Amino acid sequence: MSEVTGNAWPSPANTTLTNAEGKEPQSIQPPVKAENSLWDNVTSNPYFSAGFGLIGVGAGLTVLRQGLNLGTSLLRRRLLVTLEIPSKDKSYLWFLQWMSQQSARRTQHLAVETSYKQHDNGSVSTTFGLVPGPGNHFFKWRGVWLQVQRQRDGKMMDLTTGSPWETITLTTLSRDRDVFTALLKEAQQMAIAKQEGKTVIYTSYGPEWRPFGMPRKRRMLDSVILDNGIKERIVDDVQAFIGSGKWYNDRGIPYRRGYLLYGPPGSGKSSFIQSLAGELEYNICILNLSERGLTDDRLNHLLSNVPERSIMLLEDIDAAFAKRNQSDHQGYQSMLTFSGLLNALDGVASAEERIVFMTTNHIEQLDPALVRPGRIDMKEFLGNATESQIRGMFLRFYENDQDLADQFVRSLKNKSVSTASLQGHFVYFKDKPQQALENASGSQLFSSIS
Ligand code: ADP
Repeated sequence: MSEVTGNAWPSPANTTLTNAEGKEPQSIQPPVKAENSLWDNVTSNPYFSAGFGLIGVGAGLTVLRQGLNLGTSLLRRRLLVTLEIPSKDKSYLWFLQWMSQQSARRTQHLAVETSYKQHDNGSVSTTFGLVPGPGNHFFKWRGVWLQVQRQRDGKMMDLTTGSPWETITLTTLSRDRDVFTALLKEAQQMAIAKQEGKTVIYTSYGPEWRPFGMPRKRRMLDSVILDNGIKERIVDDVQAFIGSGKWYNDRGIPYRRGYLLYGPPGSGKSSFIQSLAGELEYNICILNLSERGLTDDRLNHLLSNVPERSIMLLEDIDAAFAKRNQSDHQGYQSMLTFSGLLNALDGVASAEERIVFMTTNHIEQLDPALVRPGRIDMKEFLGNATESQIRGMFLRFYENDQDLADQFVRSLKNKSVSTASLQGHFVYFKDKPQQALENASGSQLFSSIS
């Protein structure tokens, strides 16, 4: 037995072990080469070796994967070519429409695009268009395989329109890269053909112009009956303006012309502008100045970015500033100022052709600064139906009934009736000129005069 004195733990040097047979005790020596035996331990330990093996395999696989990725992207870069069309671009809608014709029947994942069309009589018809939905689509066009990837960004929004940001990526083989140009050209031609013989109505959508509904069938000039000479005066003036860009530019004058049509409601102001646009093969950009959230900056931006070949139409211009400092029932206050409107109209920097039409039912409420020459160059009064208009309208509905037309005019002598009410009357007595005449002094014809 060992004796323990003083120190509670015996030092290894003093420690003696006695074996069971009582043989000579052996003393324990400290290891001579600790690092060698550690290495031996590690290498000889099967768990450690397996770990190192696994790490090695993992690293090898990673390198291989990266190599493969690199190889694929190199190969893609060499063999494939992509084309990106962001939703902001004009060709985006053209392409979607084009693609709906190409592959809507074949593709599995479709999205619906609904468009409204408002007719002259106020009724609305709706059409549904099927376009390829978000995801991947493959199709063959002119013998070339194309991949179409429509991606919708879940986080990014187009702040101006509130719609999710989208991108279409077209991919094909490098050698077929010319297909993109051909395809975009065809999509554009298809979109243009759709608008041919039609008038596109644009409305403001944030700071940009967007087509409102489907393009409308062009309205013929002779479908609008104005008092003698008015139509010709305006049409001649606009046509002379359109051809004189150089004259304006040479003299450093902004190339713009403003027209004001004023008179009671239902006298054909809007219809005439529509038919004028049809005659000139122009489109119409309608802006409502009382629109919520319309600021000076936005108006300025809109007026300086009017789509080409468009008539700018500011309807009921008096309404925008009559309640200029009032807030609506939700406490909203218009941020458009009168001076902002004047500045935007003047468009100092504008060298582009700009035709602005304004309409009002109350010319007396307009600020003289707005109607001064340079802002409004031509004013025309469109009033209630004159004798010649009543006759003209009657004959448009009942051709060749000259006698009845004269009698109809006489029966309305000294009565005030709007051309819109006359139209309503003739539509009511469709194909019945005699009855239209007999009911000419009936209350129905006058009830709609406002
Ligand atoms: P306004 O803009 O003066 O209020 P609109 O152009 O909106 O009047 O006319 C309303 C309706 O009456 C339209 O359907 C239009 O076809 C018809 N109308 C009004 N005036 C005329 C006119 N002078 N000639 C032909 N149709 C007219």
